Amino acid sequence: MVKITAIKEALKALFKPATTKYPHGPPSHVPPGIRGLPQFKDDNCIGCGACAVCCSAKAISIEDKGKTRRLSIHYPRCIFCGRCEDICPEDGIALSDRFELAAYDKKEADVSIEFKLVRCKECNAVVSTKEHLAKVKERILENIDPRIVDEVAADLAKYENLCVDCRRKLSYQLNTHTQKYYSQRWET
Ligand code: SF4
Ligand code: SF4
Repeated sequence: MVKITAIKEALKALFKPATTKYPHGPPSHVPPGIRGLPQFKDDNCIGCGACAVCCSAKAISIEDKGKTRRLSIHYPRCIFCGRCEDICPEDGIALSDRFELAAYDKKEADVSIEFKLVRCKECNAVVSTKEHLAKVKERILENIDPRIVDEVAADLAKYENLCVDCRRKLSYQLNTHTQKYYSQRWET
């Protein structure tokens, strides 16, 4: 019996290889849900930078220069934890099924995406990307009490191109301070 099993195994090994010729051929199997290289989804990403802040391996960086924000993933630093995908509010980044890290060119180790930056019209500090500010505005107006939508929309138009410090400094002058809402009586 032992002999028959051994012969069967030997024949199997002859006709059906147990391994593939990877890396000279494709790998035999990439399991579903594999944590491969993270990739930006250009149509969804708004350049908010939340993924860079939460990446504990510092594999994602933000570079603000002039009127451009560049967001980059440095693959050699990535530990495939998937935190960037979990934290992204816009489905702008996802782990792919690409698992091969070796490259001939150093440039292939990074991927980048660029955005137009909005700078504060008072002090020139970075506010955020155009896409991020538009999304924040949309979310605020969607979720705010309908009775104050118009007033809040008018306030947003006054301060959307100001940084946080200048918004605070100018809030009384522009009449955008939220204090004006505290005194309003809400009927329930
Ligand atoms: S939208 Fe998502 S992927 Fe893009 S910068 Fe923000 S957190 Fe990162
Ligand atoms: S998978 Fe983890 S280590 Fe890699 S870029 Fe995303 S958060 Fe950073």
